[in-house]
Amino acid sequence: MSEYSPPLDDMKFALKEVVNVNSLSELPAFNEVGLEALDSLLDEASRFFNEVISPTNRTGDLEGSSLNDDGSVSTPSGFREAYAQYVDAGWGAISFDPEYGGGGFPWLVGIAVTEMLTAANMALSLNPMLTQGSIHALTAHGDQEQKLAWLPKLITGEWAGTMNLTEPQAGSDVGALTTKAELQDDGTYKITGQKIYITWGEHDLTENIVHLVLARTPDAPPGTKGISLFIVPKFIINDDGSIGEENDIKCLSIEHKLGIHASPTCVLQFGDNGGATGYIVGEENSGMRYMFTMMNQARLAVGLEGLAVADRAYQQALDYALERMQGRRADTPKGESVPIIDHPDVRRMLMTMKAYIEAMRCMIYLNAKSIDIAHHHPDEDERTRGHELTDLLTPLSKSWCTDLGNELTSLGIQIHGGMGFVEETGAAQHYRDIRIAGIYEGTNGIQAIDLVGRKLSMRKGDVVRELLLEINETASELHSANLKGIARPLEDAVKDMQAATEWLIEKGGASTDDGLAGATPYLRMFGTTVGGWLLAKSALQAKKQIDEGNDSEFLQAKIETATFYAEQLLPQVSGLLPATVSGAQSLYAIKPERLRG
Ligand SMILES: Cc1cc2nc3c(=O)[nH]c(=O)nc-3n(C[C@H](O)[C@H](O)[C@H](O)COP(=O)(O)OP(=O)(O)OC[C@H]3O[C@@H](n4cnc5c(N)ncnc54)[C@H](O)[C@@H]3O)c2cc1C
Repeated sequence: MSEYSPPLDDMKFALKEVVNVNSLSELPAFNEVGLEALDSLLDEASRFFNEVISPTNRTGDLEGSSLNDDGSVSTPSGFREAYAQYVDAGWGAISFDPEYGGGGFPWLVGIAVTEMLTAANMALSLNPMLTQGSIHALTAHGDQEQKLAWLPKLITGEWAGTMNLTEPQAGSDVGALTTKAELQDDGTYKITGQKIYITWGEHDLTENIVHLVLARTPDAPPGTKGISLFIVPKFIINDDGSIGEENDIKCLSIEHKLGIHASPTCVLQFGDNGGATGYIVGEENSGMRYMFTMMNQARLAVGLEGLAVADRAYQQALDYALERMQGRRADTPKGESVPIIDHPDVRRMLMTMKAYIEAMRCMIYLNAKSIDIAHHHPDEDERTRGHELTDLLTPLSKSWCTDLGNELTSLGIQIHGGMGFVEETGAAQHYRDIRIAGIYEGTNGIQAIDLVGRKLSMRKGDVVRELLLEINETASELHSANLKGIARPLEDAVKDMQAATEWLIEKGGASTDDGLAGATPYLRMFGTTVGGWLLAKSALQAKKQIDEGNDSEFLQAKIETATFYAEQLLPQVSGLLPATVSGAQSLYAIKPERLRG
């Protein structure tokens, strides 16, 4: 069992050298925030998440959260104390609006801190993640009274938030939900219905839980156009802000799951005794639109889980590979037995993990920075570009990083051999925990549809075309910097991406079965290419610093990692092109009743 140590050198390199966090201090919103103190903030966060949060990960897995007879939920031992320290230290607040008690830092900085929280304990991290989602929704769409009533304690983390979309018949198809909301004489609504799979829907970490619930008013149109958003708190708040009577919400059960055992996934019954009191956010029937405004941040946070848990698995696998003695090297068959890290196949697995993790980190950080620019740049054109990049990168961050989270945690087990399959080592927990990330917050299949639909059609494909040209410009820089071994595979990947992009646009993207059939392989091509591009940028920065006389093993490793990625991982893009452009014919060639064979 090993604890998680945040990879501070790599995080700082990605923040400063690849996505240029310092450029954000030029934006008026962040002028005063003190980005020059970023290093000490990250150092302190690293200490906190390593010492306070990481040790709760294993206990959380073994004990899990449990439902009591009275419908309350108890968290595993140590969670309440660790969460209280998290709140006291103010980690959850750093990137929110100072007007409501936030620290005012860029979202990018918040994401780096959240990476550490998530790697330290993914199950616990879901609580602040859902709270942050609620804060975004209320900040964007709540009225002033609601903001003052709910935001300050959500921002500190004294209260937690949840998101209530899913019902048994309404999963990916949110428009099928039936929870009812009826207007009362006092302007509040009575909410009745059942929500399932609600993450941290009930627990003992905070004194109140602010549920954001999607429901339908009686005359609402069918589908997503008839959905409204409501604040439905566990406890009603009195006029003086104190906690009042308990609302009509009951946790009926919590799910038994493959992973994230400490995160209670609840079936919530709203209104068993006449209706839960709810307060509408914004206007009736606009709930789905409101959800969309916070989706980018929520999906990025889930993508981050892929990176964070893969990184923790990598750290553990690396420790094991350095210690486990087994076999001899091919060139010394009669020599001493060696640590398994000396075997080429184990090196391949470790390098695959390392290269993808560093690529994911750059992608997630770039995505977070684009959110900051979209919201805070004073220039409208820059804001538009920020929005476009955010919209394009979000499905990639969500799906590519969580698919890789699954694959890399599996490699982490493989490196352990049999010990990986044995629960005591803890390698299996990472694999089990991350499995959900490709499913919730819009399955990865739905993300791929979003990519070939809404995203590919942005400016009739020009947003994608421009990004591919930018990647080619980086390839030219690589040639000039004598990094041809990275340049050529990157150019090849861009060529195949261009071919796939034009084919999908011609086929009508998500509006045809052919386009939809290519969506998932296209997303993989895209993620792999963007990952290669960002590692190439890392290599260029490292080379520049080395040429300036600042040589170090860390910088050399940056170039080696990008070279490995270019040689061994990037060529997958070419391999995926045929699947992307094959169309749907072979998917439907066999009738469903014949699929059993
Ligand atoms: C642990 C956990 C925590 C969760 N937390 C929350 C939460 O806090 N709040 C909340 O509201 N929900 C939550 N969910 C619900 C989660 O968001 C849904 O499970 C998810 O959206 C998928 O819905 P579903 O399970 O009904 O699957 P389905 O929608 O039935 O999908 C099944 C499969 O069909 C595919 N599919 C479905 N429709 C299409 C389509 N149109 N085109 C192509 N493929 C399609 C999917 O990609 C998937 O592979 C959670 C779920 C779990 C398991």
